[in-house]
Amino acid sequence: MATNILVIIGNGLAANRVLEQLGENHPFSAIHVLSDEPVAHYNRIMLSPLLAGETTLNAITPHDKEWYQSRRISVYLKQNVERIDTLTQQVICSGGDHFAYDALILATGSRSFVPDIPGADATNVVGFRSLRDVDTMFERLPDIQHATVIGAGLLGVEAATGLRSHGIQVTLLHRNPVLMNRQMDATASALLEKELLNRGIDVRTGCTPLKLCSSNAPKLHINTIQFEQTEYRIQQQLDTDLVVFATGIIANKELAESAGIHCGQGIQVDALMRTSHPHIYALGECCEFNGNTYGLVAPIWEQASILARQLHQQYQTDQQQRLSTADPLLSYQEREHLTKLKVSGVDIHSIGQFEADSSTEVLQLLDEHAGIYKKILLRDERIVGALCVGDVADSHWYYELMQQGDSVTALRPTLLFGQAYC
Ligand SMILES: Cc1cc2nc3c(=O)[nH]c(=O)nc-3n(C[C@H](O)[C@H](O)[C@H](O)COP(=O)(O)OP(=O)(O)OC[C@H]3O[C@@H](n4cnc5c(N)ncnc54)[C@H](O)[C@@H]3O)c2cc1C
Repeated sequence: MATNILVIIGNGLAANRVLEQLGENHPFSAIHVLSDEPVAHYNRIMLSPLLAGETTLNAITPHDKEWYQSRRISVYLKQNVERIDTLTQQVICSGGDHFAYDALILATGSRSFVPDIPGADATNVVGFRSLRDVDTMFERLPDIQHATVIGAGLLGVEAATGLRSHGIQVTLLHRNPVLMNRQMDATASALLEKELLNRGIDVRTGCTPLKLCSSNAPKLHINTIQFEQTEYRIQQQLDTDLVVFATGIIANKELAESAGIHCGQGIQVDALMRTSHPHIYALGECCEFNGNTYGLVAPIWEQASILARQLHQQYQTDQQQRLSTADPLLSYQEREHLTKLKVSGVDIHSIGQFEADSSTEVLQLLDEHAGIYKKILLRDERIVGALCVGDVADSHWYYELMQQGDSVTALRPTLLFGQAYC
């Protein structure tokens, strides 16, 4: 086998998925994975159940040393890649180590976005992104009585319920009047809010944080958070010991940018996950395709399988033909994905469009008492979106029907009741 070295920067879900897809018979003599985190790869999605005390780090760490060894993979922890030298084809870490590459994958993910408000840099302010964030929350838990989670998207709701499960008081602040407003409408939001209130979480919607005020000594603790009730422009404040920001993410593109690789919101890639530089690829939350960036794993799984096939073909033998972006089986395409809230006892699945417009028809079923809400949006008798709260048994089936794009006219009378009735 020719000496072909693959270097991967980042050891998150995207990197791990590419390694899994490359398999044992990959075309590289060695693969070096460089991670700035101090621990082996873990399933980031499962940080929510970890925070809630429903799983362990061991259970969310999928591979052991033998798995890596059998694939000629070396993982280097606490290696922050500082620079990419595209001329000499090597990456340089902040500690001075150099790694030469024949092929390079950028899988640097993203980081928490923390709004620029006074006090946001205090000690007891964290994002919800990494194991270190969860460890920080666990370290603080014995000393705190109240936590505030800012942002009630998927992550914020999971952070709030996770913290609440440890018995502390939790306030969930959200700027939009609708919770998880990227996945849900106002009816679903009201059901979720009721459930969160039942669990003892203080939910405040339509509120924008203005300022965090800390005491000085001995440690910096947040004492108060000031926020504005946006609709009425009323300023309020509450005492809190810990603030968790779940207010979005920013792609880690700076490393690529400083190497002259084309970037927009993320590292720009084509449908074969190639960047503007030869032999350099990107995928996952650090990348941008057709103006889109990513915050969920489903598209990343597709990117990983496309990239793995691409690497197999590019680096296997000299005779292999270059792949064509015109091949629909091998090039990345955007599609809708099913989003799930991971809070035990609260089932919410959302796919595609959830607010009606002039071109859509709505089928819906609501049982407020039972906490069940189903909404299906149709355009030209085809499903373009579905929202299931409380009963998610058929969400995957709705998703398949939507992907197939067939007319559901024949199923329509019983569609809301699910596959068993159709
Ligand atoms: C708590 C939580 C719950 C989630 N739940 C869901 C869910 O239910 N469903 C869903 O679809 N998605 C969920 N997500 C989102 C999902 O985890 C991400 O989409 C996914 O992890 C992105 O994978 P990635 O490999 O692109 O980035 P990451 O997983 O962030 O990995 C990037 C890695 O690169 C490292 N890195 C960055 N720069 C450097 C450098 N210069 N040198 C070395 N290493 C570097 C980072 O430290 C990180 O380890 C959740 C995310 C979080 C935080």
